Amino acid sequence: MAETSTLIILGASGDLTERLLLPGLASLLKSDRGVDVKLIGTGRSERSPKEWDDVVKTAFNGDAGSDLAKRTLASSEYIQGDPTDPEHLKKLFEAAEGDSVMYFALPPAISTKVIKALEKIDVPDGLRLALEKPFGNDEEGARDLNAELLKVIPEERIHRTDHFLGRSTVLDIIGLRFANRLFEPVWNSDNIEKVEIFYDEILGLEGRAQYYDKAGALIDMIQSHLLQILAIIAMDAPASIDAIELRSEIARVLRATWIKDGDPVTASRRGQYSAGTIDGKDVPAYADEDGVDNSRHTETLAEVEFEIKTRRWAGVPFILRSGKGMTKVRKEVLITFKPVPVLPAGLTGATSPDTLRIEISPETLELGVTTNGKGNPFSLEKSVFKTDLGKPELTPYGEVLSGIFHDDPTLSIRGDVAERCWAIVQPVIDAWQSDLVPLETYPAGSSGPADWTTSKEA
Ligand code: NDP
Repeated sequence: MAETSTLIILGASGDLTERLLLPGLASLLKSDRGVDVKLIGTGRSERSPKEWDDVVKTAFNGDAGSDLAKRTLASSEYIQGDPTDPEHLKKLFEAAEGDSVMYFALPPAISTKVIKALEKIDVPDGLRLALEKPFGNDEEGARDLNAELLKVIPEERIHRTDHFLGRSTVLDIIGLRFANRLFEPVWNSDNIEKVEIFYDEILGLEGRAQYYDKAGALIDMIQSHLLQILAIIAMDAPASIDAIELRSEIARVLRATWIKDGDPVTASRRGQYSAGTIDGKDVPAYADEDGVDNSRHTETLAEVEFEIKTRRWAGVPFILRSGKGMTKVRKEVLITFKPVPVLPAGLTGATSPDTLRIEISPETLELGVTTNGKGNPFSLEKSVFKTDLGKPELTPYGEVLSGIFHDDPTLSIRGDVAERCWAIVQPVIDAWQSDLVPLETYPAGSSGPADWTTSKEA
């Protein structure tokens, strides 16, 4: 029988806990990865035992499914209190069994206060801390936060979570690249024209102005999740898939990643949706949404071109883009290959470049290649080989939690990388704050300003 660990969720009354964290825990406990978890939720809000029980049961979809899950449901409790109060934190540790994982499902400013409160008490041996993005507000903020955390516990027990690293298709990239003869030999600037990473959503603000209006698409998506995907696409082969080797390769490639030509004005574009129609429903302009402060000029669509200064990638554009209020969901990595240097005379017809499309959601892989035509065999056509990669057993948060419970930080962001990701995008943040890049508008339900290169479907 696995030893019991306690998951203490700070901010248990919040959106992340209910929508992502608890369902992730449920998927983990229903799987065969063998963790025995006592669950403690906490927050300033009141929750009767019945209310908390209902929240947890909803996450399990009424189906405990395994003995481990049943035990977690039976032993779960909510302890009301302020997580920034050291006395309350002591009480939480007293209620815990086995090693504790403290998950900060809190607004970032509150997380910082909790870390300072933890510095004032004796924390239990074996404590692990799990922190969400955004990790700090800039490079210096991330460095300060790292220094504070290290006063409480050592680096190997700090989990800076990025649930995109728990997404099965992102993890699939590692197998695809390094377990096949087909891809790795052509995975370089000799053969690849460009790499695009998209995360476009139809959804608009959905009442999350308090968080999103301060972040915007650049910080919400590109600075965090999409740079991690870029690293997985661009890194060299790690010696092994573990916390030291994989994270070292990620760190190494991100140290070579820069805004294209060092010029944020030419390398970035930003937009904000105006009123429009999505799925037949009228959507108000972002600027008219509740809680939006128009003086912030928050972007709901961001596109940034990066370059990676290594022998492998010199000259290959990496274009990262994310938007809200778009006409369709587009969550994918699209790799476009260079054309062949020459075609034999007599092979005719339109040729478009080979492409590899890794769809993050739904989980599919699509290889687009040129083949002989069905009519005249020497008139070329495009053929697409598409496969469904299948639904993973664990949700991305389930995968992240599995790493935390198994004391394995392979899929969490190393401290220096958290700082580096801020340093990479800082020139863009500065240029946008100084209004050096215009804030363009696009109607909600469109594919962005028409002249953006990434607005055109490949
Ligand atoms: P919420 O804004 O929903 O806040 C979570 C909880 O924090 C609240 O329920 C509240 O609980 C507590 N809280 C708020 N203010 C204070 C305060 N002044 N002092 C003490 N506690 C406070 O956040 P989310 O759940 O949306 O997000 C949590 C973290 O996860 C954030 O860092 C966010 O960036 C990150 N994240 C969120 C995602 C999401 O989809 N929601 C996705 C990815 C990351 P109470 O009032 O009961 O104390």
